[in-house]
Amino acid sequence: MRFSQHLRQSINVLLNVKQRKAEVKQALLEQGVDPKIIEDLIFQDVTQTAKNFKMAITTRPTNMTLLPQNSQVEINAYNALRPVSDSYGTSNSFKKRSIYYDAKAQPVNHFMAFVQLARLFETLGLSPFRCFPLRRSWFLGYVQIDSKILCQNILNIRWSNNIDKLDYGKQVVDLNAKPFKAQKENKLLRFCGTIQTDSVGVTVLKKRIDRQSSYTSTIKEADKKFKYISDLNTEEHKAVNETPIKFRYTKQDQDKTRKSKKYRNILQAMKSNNPAVYQAENVLAENQSSSLEMEVYRRFLERLGQNYTVLDNFYGYTTMSSQNPQFMLRKLRLAAYFNKQRADMQLINSLKQKFGKDAIFVLGNWSAPNALYHEPTRGIGLRRLLLRNHLSLLLIDEFNTSRCCPSCHILSLKKFKQIDNPRPYQRSNYSLTLCHGLLRCTNQTCMTKMQTQGFQYKLWNRDLAACLNMISIILNLRNWSNPRTICTSCPLKKRPQMGK
Ligand SMILES: [Zn+2]
Repeated sequence: MRFSQHLRQSINVLLNVKQRKAEVKQALLEQGVDPKIIEDLIFQDVTQTAKNFKMAITTRPTNMTLLPQNSQVEINAYNALRPVSDSYGTSNSFKKRSIYYDAKAQPVNHFMAFVQLARLFETLGLSPFRCFPLRRSWFLGYVQIDSKILCQNILNIRWSNNIDKLDYGKQVVDLNAKPFKAQKENKLLRFCGTIQTDSVGVTVLKKRIDRQSSYTSTIKEADKKFKYISDLNTEEHKAVNETPIKFRYTKQDQDKTRKSKKYRNILQAMKSNNPAVYQAENVLAENQSSSLEMEVYRRFLERLGQNYTVLDNFYGYTTMSSQNPQFMLRKLRLAAYFNKQRADMQLINSLKQKFGKDAIFVLGNWSAPNALYHEPTRGIGLRRLLLRNHLSLLLIDEFNTSRCCPSCHILSLKKFKQIDNPRPYQRSNYSLTLCHGLLRCTNQTCMTKMQTQGFQYKLWNRDLAACLNMISIILNLRNWSNPRTICTSCPLKKRPQMGK
C-alpha cells in the first residue's frame, strides 16, 4: 500500500501547491525580483506551509497549532481531509509517532483511511488507485529466506542471535552439497544462511567474510561522489584530447542484444495457442479494478474469480509445474537476465575499444525513472555500470539545454507544431497535441536572420539542440580562464551558461 505517496499527493492538490508556486513566481518576476530571492520566498510561502500542513495532519490527534486559522484554502483542505483523519477514531496512536511508519507496520489499522483517501481522489478527479490490495502479477516473485524467517515460519522454533545461523540451515539443507560450498581463493566467499527462492529456482547468497563494508554501501558512497564537469579546473580541462570519435548506442541496439522483441513474440505465440487466456485478460482489462462503486467492484471481483483458474493455470504451468518439461516463461526470464548482463558487457567492451581504457565519459544528470509516457532511460544504473567496470565519468547539468537556442543562446525554443495525439485512448478528448521533438526559436534576432533566407523561424530538433548546448557548455568550461565571473547570474553553481 502506497499510503504516504497518496496522502501527500492529495494534500498538494488540495493546497494547490503547483499553481500557487507559479503565481508567486510570476508576480515576483514582474516586480523584477532576483531569481535567487524568488526561490527562497517560494520556499517560505508555499513549500514550508504545505510541509507544516502535512505535519499537522499526520500527527495524532491533529496538531491544530500548525494549521493557520485564517487561510481559507487550508481550512477547506482540512475539511476535505476530515473523513480520512476521522476514520482512525479518537484513541489511536501511531507506532514511532509516524503515520507513514504505522501504515507500513500495521496496514490493517489504516484500511478505512485508505478507502476514504480513494474516495477523496475520486472527488478531486485524480486518477484512481486500488485501495483493496490484491495480487497483481501472475508470476511468483522471489522471496528471501534467512535464518530468522526459517525459524519463525518454517521450523516453528525460537530464533536466537547467539546460535550460529548455519546450525539452523543444517536442519533443512545439506550444507555439504556443492552449491553451499565456500568459494574463491582461501574459501573466503561463504554461505551465511540466506537464500532466495520462488519455490522452483533457488539463489544461494554468499558473503565475503573478510570484508567489513557491504557491496551496496560502497556503491552508495560512490553515488555521492559523482563529480560534475564544471568542478574541474582549467588544467584538467586542457589535458583533454579533442579528436572527435563517433559512437552510437540506441535503445534499439540494446533491445537487439537483450532479444526483448523475440521473447515478447514467443509469449504472444504461446497465448495465441491458448485463446482462453487472451479472452480472460481482455475481460479483466475491461473491468475497473480501482472503482469504489460497490456494483462495479463486485463485478470486477466476480470476473476475476471466473478467470482466475485460466490465468493461474497458464502462467503457473509455464513457470512452476514440475510435470511440464518446458518451463517456457521461466526459461525466458532466466535468458532475459543473462542477455541483460551480456548487453552491458558488450556496451562496456565497445566503449573501451572505441575510446580507450582511460577515457572520461560525460553523462547528463537528468533521469526520469518510471515516469509516465517516458521510455525508461538508464540514469543511475548506467553510471554504476561504468563505475563497476573502472571507467571514469563526470556529470553535466542538463538544465535548460533543450530550451536554449544553440545559435542565439537565449531561452527561446518553443513547441509549436500541432500533430495527431500519439496516445490513442486520449484522442477522443484531445485529437491534436503539441509536438515534443520539434522546436522553433522565437527570438527576434534569430527570426530576422531567417527572414533574409526566406523562412520565418529557425527550427530545431530537441535532442540535437540539447547536444549542441552541452558541447557548448564543455567548450566554454575549457576556454574560460575564470568560469565564476561568467557564471554569477546562474541560480546554481553547477549551471554554466550556454553559448556566449
Ligand atoms: Zn535562436
